[in-house]
Amino acid sequence: MADKNIPTKIYLGENEIPKAWYNVRADMKNKPAPLLNPGTGQPMKPEELEPVFCRELIAQEMDNDTAYFDIPGEVREFYKMFRPSPLIRAYQLEKALGTPAKIYYKFEGNNTSGSHKLNSAIAQAYYAKQQGLKGVTTETGAGQWGTALSMACAFFGLDCKVFMVKVSYEQKPFRREVMRTYGASVTPSPSMETQIGRKILADHPGTTGSLGCAISEAVEVAVGSEGYRYVLGSVLNQVLLHQSVIGLETKAALDKYGIKADIIIGCAGGGSNLGGLIAPFMGEKLRGEADYRIIAVEPSSCPSFTRGRFAYDFADTGMVCPLAKMYTLGSDFIPAPNHAGGLRYHGMSTILSQLYHDGYMEAVSVPQSEVFEAAEQFARTEGILPAPESSHAILGAVNEALKCKESGEEKTIVFGLTGTGYFDMVAYEKFHDGKMDDYIPTDEELARYAAKLPNIK
Ligand SMILES: *Cc1c(COP(=O)(O)O)cnc(C)c1O
Repeated sequence: MADKNIPTKIYLGENEIPKAWYNVRADMKNKPAPLLNPGTGQPMKPEELEPVFCRELIAQEMDNDTAYFDIPGEVREFYKMFRPSPLIRAYQLEKALGTPAKIYYKFEGNNTSGSHKLNSAIAQAYYAKQQGLKGVTTETGAGQWGTALSMACAFFGLDCKVFMVKVSYEQKPFRREVMRTYGASVTPSPSMETQIGRKILADHPGTTGSLGCAISEAVEVAVGSEGYRYVLGSVLNQVLLHQSVIGLETKAALDKYGIKADIIIGCAGGGSNLGGLIAPFMGEKLRGEADYRIIAVEPSSCPSFTRGRFAYDFADTGMVCPLAKMYTLGSDFIPAPNHAGGLRYHGMSTILSQLYHDGYMEAVSVPQSEVFEAAEQFARTEGILPAPESSHAILGAVNEALKCKESGEEKTIVFGLTGTGYFDMVAYEKFHDGKMDDYIPTDEELARYAAKLPNIK
């Protein structure tokens, strides 16, 4: 039954876009472990990161204590193009499920790049411009990050070089053209343009690529090109910081109508949308002010949280990036060609890894054909065609709502709908034709990769 006092779509006003990002690390007792220099094994110093990253972003990356960072005025102006994003009550999905649960989703797909990634792309391009750089390099998996960054670079007049994981480059040629429309150059990875790309191709001929390998290529090009830095669309602390705008708006919308969430769910690739969505709620939980169940949903083909090790590992296949302590499957783990390209990363945000390790959140892994069933049910009931990545969160919410149906509990579930799936129709086609496989790595396979983790305590 519709709740008369609460709109189905809660839209905040433009002046309610947050004025500061929230840094959940400030409220963590156990801080995420520092990045280590792969050469010395010592914590990275800011000056060691400077050849790779933008200065201001390094400061954000390393700051475990400042709770709020002001959002620059120019960034807020760009946010106004597509924010605030709506928090929507999924009445039709609830009805189809026959659940007493109340399901809300925060929809981040309402911009041309089609995902939440624009929230951080705009911030990162802004700081690169402030520093007087010529351009940035990056990797992209499914293509959403590359698209978001291309848009942001077009706004700020920066050059943008994108290494796109080969399997996505081939499956999603239109994504590539969107990026080129915004002025970016796009190279399939692994490529012959970098040392590491040539090495990976020699070692693994015919590989479909991975995020870890595209990262190595993009870093190599940034470090070797004057006036360029490398930017990353997920995993890093700075990205979770920028994405906190999702959670801050969600909390403001819930608070406005006196709604209390019980369960908060997000899909987890590198952890940025989930980290951003849960940030203010996790802050309350860490400070002992409120309690929530927080659930990460990941693909069973790339199960970093649920079957990975909590250990120092390389962020990239080429082992050029700093070591991060995180839940990881091993930096040369190349997952089966799952269709949720944005979730095919071997590691996980160090912030979320620490929170998970300390018991503040849960994680589940789900097979991709169930994810697409949930995606289709969602499209048919709520109307939005979801991205495969986002559909992991949908499935997580559906499963919790079905538990409520059994127990009769009227829980309030909030999940992050990170994007739309218009560029994922090859995946939908496979699903509709019954040709989708559910490859799940064996324990032996995972153990083989885990055995190769660097030996750092
Ligand atoms: C990239 C992406 C994700 C996963 O990345 P996170 O950093 O874990 O949020 C999820 N959904 C969409 C639509 C994406 O583009």
